[in-house]
Amino acid sequence: MTRACPSSALPSVDSIRQRVAWSHRIREALLDTFAPRGCLACDAELHPGRERLFCAPCAIAVESGEPWAPYLYGGAIRHAIVRLKFQDRTDLAEPLGRRLGAWAFGRAAVPAGAIVVPVASSPERIRERGYCHATLVARGVASELGLTLVPFGLTRLRQDGTQLGRGREDRLSALRDAYVASEKVCGKSVFLVDDVRTTGATLDACTLALTRAGAAHVEPLVVAWTPPENET
Ligand SMILES: [Zn+2]
Repeated sequence: MTRACPSSALPSVDSIRQRVAWSHRIREALLDTFAPRGCLACDAELHPGRERLFCAPCAIAVESGEPWAPYLYGGAIRHAIVRLKFQDRTDLAEPLGRRLGAWAFGRAAVPAGAIVVPVASSPERIRERGYCHATLVARGVASELGLTLVPFGLTRLRQDGTQLGRGREDRLSALRDAYVASEKVCGKSVFLVDDVRTTGATLDACTLALTRAGAAHVEPLVVAWTPPENET
């Protein structure tokens, strides 16, 4: 009787990808049946088996953000993010996070034991909104990738006014010491999650804080990014 070589019992990366793709499809089919979801930008009914996040008219206005993010910031994706951040639509975070997780899985290795850390909003902002939108998106990423979410891996120490209208250098100096990372990140590969990348100053400041706390590697993941000429 021949025994299978132990190494042949290890699933290949491709077969893992296939399984993840299948589990994704099965879950989406179940969601369609038992918890139908509307378009993230306009709440229009979504037809099963079609575009999962947006209705057809909204999907036309969605542009790919490759290679930096699944989406370019604008159109329907902007509507979805604005609704999530400013209109209490916390229900939109999970599908956006799952889509981001699936996108990340398709393009890079996911190290075993990696953790997911959201870009922290300031305590004032969290009080104002009642939730931290990046944490909700990060929860979707973590569940898609089967990783541990560390919600307070980063803390924002102070809120230096709005980011809007500031140049990269201004933002960098204002942000440099605004974040501190928990010791839980020490030695870990970290997926750092935020909704939108504009200049990248926030992600840089968070990466610095995580690295100072001993993170082994930091991979920023954002739902959408803004090209420099369109910075807001
Ligand atoms: Zn729509």
